Amino acid sequence: MIKVKSLKFLVLSFTFCTLSFSFITGCQKQELHKESRIIMGTFAGVKSTDERAARIAFDEIKRIEDLMSKYKEDSEVWKLNKRGRISASPDVMYVIKKAKEIWLLSNGAFDITVGPLMDLWGFSDKKYSPPSPAQIKRALKITGLDKVIVNEANNSIRFNASGMKIDLGAVAKGYAIDCAVKKLKENGITSAIVRVGGEIYALGTKAGRPWVIAIRSTDKKGFAGTLEMVDRAVSTSGNYEQFFIKDGIRYTHIINPKTGMSANSGVAGVTVLAPDCLTADALATAIFVLGEDKGRALAKKIPGAQIKLIIKERQ
Ligand code: AMP
Ligand code: MG
Repeated sequence: MIKVKSLKFLVLSFTFCTLSFSFITGCQKQELHKESRIIMGTFAGVKSTDERAARIAFDEIKRIEDLMSKYKEDSEVWKLNKRGRISASPDVMYVIKKAKEIWLLSNGAFDITVGPLMDLWGFSDKKYSPPSPAQIKRALKITGLDKVIVNEANNSIRFNASGMKIDLGAVAKGYAIDCAVKKLKENGITSAIVRVGGEIYALGTKAGRPWVIAIRSTDKKGFAGTLEMVDRAVSTSGNYEQFFIKDGIRYTHIINPKTGMSANSGVAGVTVLAPDCLTADALATAIFVLGEDKGRALAKKIPGAQIKLIIKERQ
């Protein structure tokens, strides 16, 4: 029997630590505006003393979702997966180029071409089932970012093998947050928290003090710690977000692109800090696949990145 657990909507790896809705700066009491939404298939939230912040940030996150969701018909990713080639927007070009950088640095552990493997395991349509070795072998033949050809001269992207599919689930949320933060700054907003699922950016300070972010433990029963952040991104990848259990084995939604199997590096959860959220997002996923030792070596290669927490699988 397959036990299914999709906790996308229930479990957040982070929670905002601000308990009060208002706080004092100098002699003035400032109200903290908070707004939550379900977007990009998960919970998102924006907090700021500027009441314009949520609208500005969510508009931008929605714009990125419309470009990069593999489920939305007419998104650029959907079209690329269907037709095998597209003329890409600057956003999609940028994300694919960044994904290639992390792919190279991670020695292929981070690979957005896991689309066919995600489908095969049932993580795309939630019809979970471990595939046969023959099915995995076939899917691996059309996996690999080396088979994605990026042409910067005419901003086009094409696949080198038919049946390939990209999946930006490990990186689009982080990029959407980066875009939202950029828009906030362009609008003169200097203090906010923007969160989408397990990804967070802390813009500026909270009335002169660092924002405090609580890291929830993977068993969801408590907190693994808190982080103080100013102008910094944090991302968590964990085996509790989407998984199923078959014959006592837990299969999680992050795939090892070398084997085609659900990643089982011994890491149950990893929390990473970085200067931008795209990098934090991609890196957390890559470390989840690589495991602790190789993951630490990878983080050292990325300027400004820092592993904050690695929770190991119980043996
Ligand atoms: P995250 O929660 O950020 O770690 O991202 C997990 C999502 O990334 C999965 O749901 C897939 O959409 C995608 N994904 C799975 N395995 C990989 C991988 N090895 N490299 C890149 N993306 C992946
Ligand atoms: Mg990620």
